[in-house]
Amino acid sequence: MYTVAQLIGGVWGAGGEAGDLVVHDPATGAPVTGAPVATSDEVDKAVAAARGVAAEWAATPPAERAAALHRAADAVAAVADELAEATTTEMGKPLAHARGGVEAGIATLRQYAELAPTRGGRTLHGTPDALDFMTPQPRGVVAVITPWNDPVAVSCGLLGAALVTGNVVLHKPSERTPATGWLLARAVDSALPAGVLSLLIGGAETGAALAGAEVDVVAHVGSTATGRAVAAAAARSGAKVLLENGGSDPLIVDADVDPVWAAGQAATGAFANAGQICVAVERVYAHRDVAEDFVAALVERAAALHGGPGRDPATDLGPLVDRRHRDQVHGQVTAAVADGARIRVGGTLPEGPGAFYPATVLDNCRHDMALVREETFGPVAPVVVVDSFSEALRCAADSPYGLAATVLTGSMSHAQRAWRELPVGTVKVNAVFGGAPAGAAHPRRGSGQGFGYGPELLDEFTATKAVHIEAPGGGHW
Ligand code: NAD
Repeated sequence: MYTVAQLIGGVWGAGGEAGDLVVHDPATGAPVTGAPVATSDEVDKAVAAARGVAAEWAATPPAERAAALHRAADAVAAVADELAEATTTEMGKPLAHARGGVEAGIATLRQYAELAPTRGGRTLHGTPDALDFMTPQPRGVVAVITPWNDPVAVSCGLLGAALVTGNVVLHKPSERTPATGWLLARAVDSALPAGVLSLLIGGAETGAALAGAEVDVVAHVGSTATGRAVAAAAARSGAKVLLENGGSDPLIVDADVDPVWAAGQAATGAFANAGQICVAVERVYAHRDVAEDFVAALVERAAALHGGPGRDPATDLGPLVDRRHRDQVHGQVTAAVADGARIRVGGTLPEGPGAFYPATVLDNCRHDMALVREETFGPVAPVVVVDSFSEALRCAADSPYGLAATVLTGSMSHAQRAWRELPVGTVKVNAVFGGAPAGAAHPRRGSGQGFGYGPELLDEFTATKAVHIEAPGGGHW
C-alpha cells in the first residue's frame, strides 16, 4: 500500500485536512494507495508559498535550470521501475506499456533540458544607436493538472517545460494515480531548490481550487468537460489556459486498402491501453467495398487479445481504470445496441473482481450514435459503413472534437484531401500511431487549445517582452 504525502512550500507531508482518498487496483479491487486531500485553503497557501520563490527561480541562469532538469531526469530514471509498477497498480495498464510511458517521460525531460537554453527571442532592426530585441521570460506560477491514462509521460512534458523555462509549478496529478504522481514529484523535487515544485493531491474539488487560484498559467490535460470548467475558472483570475482535452478520433478505411492490414491498424488504435489513449481510434468509417472483410478481420484481432492484470507479461488488454469508468463505457455500448448497433465481439460485463472490459467490435453503427460521436475511452470499435471517401471525410470532420485522425488509403489524392480538409490537430495516413519526434499540433474545437507538447510547449510557458534601449538624451552612451 502506497502512503502518499503532499509537498507544499518545500515541506513534504504538509496539509491534507480535507481527508483521505483510497485508490483500488483495477485488476483486483484491492486498496493500493492512501492519499491526503488538499483543502482549498491549503491550495491557496501552496500558491502563495510558490510565488515566494518564483523570482529567485526565474532569475536562475537558464543553463543552471537545464542542469537541474537533467538531474531530475536522472532521478526519475533511478525510480523508473517503481514508477511503472505504481502506474500499473493504480490504473491497470500492462507493465511494459507503463514502463514505456516512464521512458517517454524521461526522454521529454532531457529534451526540454537541451532545448530550453537554445530557445531565445529575436533581435530587431531599430535605429543604429538603439538596442531592440524580444525575449521570452517565465510567466511565474504554473498550475499543472493531469490525468491518469499515461500519468508519467504527460506530467513530465508539462513539468519539464514549465520548470526549465523558469516557472514555479504546482502539480495536481489525477486522484486515480496519486502514488505515481507522488513518486514522480519526489524524484523531480530532489533536483530542484526547495519550493520550486509543489504537489497537491485530490480530485475535482482540489483541481477546481487550483484552477481558480491566483496563478499565472493553468495547464490542464484531461476531459473536455473539465477543460471547459478550468477555462471558466481561469477567466475569473486572468490566468492563461493551456488545454489538451478529449477526442473522438476517426479512422477512415478507404475502398482500395487490404482489409486485413486495415483491421490490424484499427485494433492497435482502438484497443491499446484498453482504448484509454487521447488519440485512440474511437470510430471507424469503412468503405462498403471492404467493410465486411475488414470487420471480420477486426473481430478476429479483438478475440485474440489476451485480457488480464497489467503485471502479467502475457496481458495485451488490462482492465479499465475503475468500475465507474467501465459503467460509462458499457453504458455507451448498450445505448448503441438499443439503437440498432450489432455486437460482433465483446460488449458484455465479465464476472469477477476488477474493472475488466473485453475488446468490443460493433457494426450497423450510425454516425449520429453517442457511441460514435462522444469519446468512449474504452476498448470499443464502432464501425460505420460509408459509400464514398467524401462521405467518410464528411463524417470524420463532423465532430465536437478535433484531436487527430487516421486515414488508410492507397490514393495520394485522398491522402491530400484528408490532411487539408480534416479540422483536427494531427492527421496520420496509413499508420495509426505514427509521427516524427518534435511534432506538435494545435488541437481544435473541444480537444483543447495551445501546444501541449513539442518544442512549442516551451513558448506556452513564457511571455515575450519587447525591449527598446536608447542612451540618455538621445545621444551616445
Ligand atoms: P479529467 O478531466 O476528469 O481529470 C483530469 C484532471 O483534472 C485530474 O487531475 C482531475 O482531478 C482534474 N479535475 C477534475 N475536475 C476538475 C475541475 N472541475 N477543475 C480542475 N481540475 C479538475 O480527465 P481524466 O478522466 O483524468 O482523463 C481522461 C481524459 O483526458 C480523456 O478525455 C482523454 O482524452 C484526455 N487526455 C487528453 C490528452 C491530450 O493530450 N489531448 C492526453 C491524455 C488524456
